[in-house]
Amino acid sequence: MTGDGHPGPEGPHGARLTVDLGALAANWGRLAARAPGAECGAVIKADGYGCGIRRVGPALWTAGCRTFFVAHLSEGLAARAALPEATIYVLNGLPPGAAGAYAAPRLRPVLCSLEELSEWAALSRGRHPAALHVDTGMNRLGLSVPEALALGGDPRIAGAGIDLVMSHFVSAERPEDPVNARQIADFATIRAALPGLRGSLANSSGIFLDGARHDLLRPGYALFGGNPTPGRDNPMRPVVRLRARIVQTRQVEAGTSAGYNGLWTAPGPRRLATLSLGYADGLPRALSGRGHALVGGVPCPILGLVSMDLIILDVTGAPAARRGADAVLIGDALDIDAVGRAAGTIGYEILTRLGSRYVRDYVG
Ligand SMILES: *Cc1c(COP(=O)(O)O)cnc(C)c1O
Repeated sequence: MTGDGHPGPEGPHGARLTVDLGALAANWGRLAARAPGAECGAVIKADGYGCGIRRVGPALWTAGCRTFFVAHLSEGLAARAALPEATIYVLNGLPPGAAGAYAAPRLRPVLCSLEELSEWAALSRGRHPAALHVDTGMNRLGLSVPEALALGGDPRIAGAGIDLVMSHFVSAERPEDPVNARQIADFATIRAALPGLRGSLANSSGIFLDGARHDLLRPGYALFGGNPTPGRDNPMRPVVRLRARIVQTRQVEAGTSAGYNGLWTAPGPRRLATLSLGYADGLPRALSGRGHALVGGVPCPILGLVSMDLIILDVTGAPAARRGADAVLIGDALDIDAVGRAAGTIGYEILTRLGSRYVRDYVG
C-alpha cells in the first residue's frame, strides 16, 4: 500500500498524475520576482488548472501568495474552504440575486457591468470589497472603456467597496501583436480616471510585457509549468507529470490492424503496448495517430484511435517496454505545451481536462 491508501504504486486506475508543489511554489516566486513593486496573486480556476485546488491553494499560500482568483461561485467556495484567510476574487461576474451568497464567505466578485455594480453597492454599502473589470479589447466580459471613464468620481465606486480595477489581455502571449500596446494605454487612462484603486492587468504572459504589471499580477498557466513566452525557452519549472503502466504488449505481423475501425495497419512487424488511460481521462482523441508517450525515454507513437479508457503505443523501438513498465504521457520532453500542440490545442486545455480518475500524487 502507498501512503495514500492505494493498492499499488499506480493506484487503482493504472495511471498516476504527479503534481510537484515545490515547483509550483518556485514558479510563483519566479513570477513575483519579475515585478518587485507589485503583489503576485494566483489564478486557480478550473480546480487549480486540473491540479486540485485543495492542495494547490495552500501550497501557494505557504509560498507567500495572499490573493487568488477563480471563475465561479462554486470555485470560490472551494477556494475559501482551502484558504480561510485569503483574499479571493471571483472573475465571472455577479449573477442576479447572488450578492449575499458571495458576501457571506467573504468572496469578492469581479463586477462586469453597471447593473452588477449597483446590485453589489446595495448589499455592500462599502463594507464588502469587490473588483471592477473593464473590457479593453476582448469584448467578452466587463464594462466598456467609456463606461469606466464615466465612473470617475461616482459614489457607487466607494459604495460598492471597489478596491481593484482590472482588465484582461487579448494576445499577451504574442508580444508582437499591436493590440497589447493599445490595451496597456487604455488601462493607464482608466486608472487615471479612477484614482485610489489598485490595478491588475497581467496574466502569465502579460507579466513578460513592458508596462503591464501594475499592482497585482494574475498568473495561472505559468504557475503550473506552461510556457508564458511561446517560441522562447520556458522560464518555468514543470509541475505536472502523468505516467501509466503498460498493461500488456504484443508482437504483430505486417498488415495487422489495431484499435477501433482498424485505422492503423502495421507496415511491418511491430511491438505494441496498451496503456489504461484514454479520452475519458482527458487525453484528447485528437492525439490519435499524432501523440507520443516516452518508454525508457524513447518516444513511442500513439497509434490508431484513442479509446475511452485505453491507448495503444508502437513500442518497437523501446526495449524497456514490457508489462508493468512506466510510460510517460506528460513530463520530460513531453511538456504540456508539446502535448497541446500534438493534439492541435493548447497546454491550457490539456491541464484543465486532466481526468478525475487519476490518483493525484503531491510531491515537494
Ligand atoms: C484565466 C485568467 C487569468 C490567468 O491567465 P493565464 O494565461 O493562465 O495566466 C488571468 N486573468 C483572467 C481574467 C483570467 O480569466
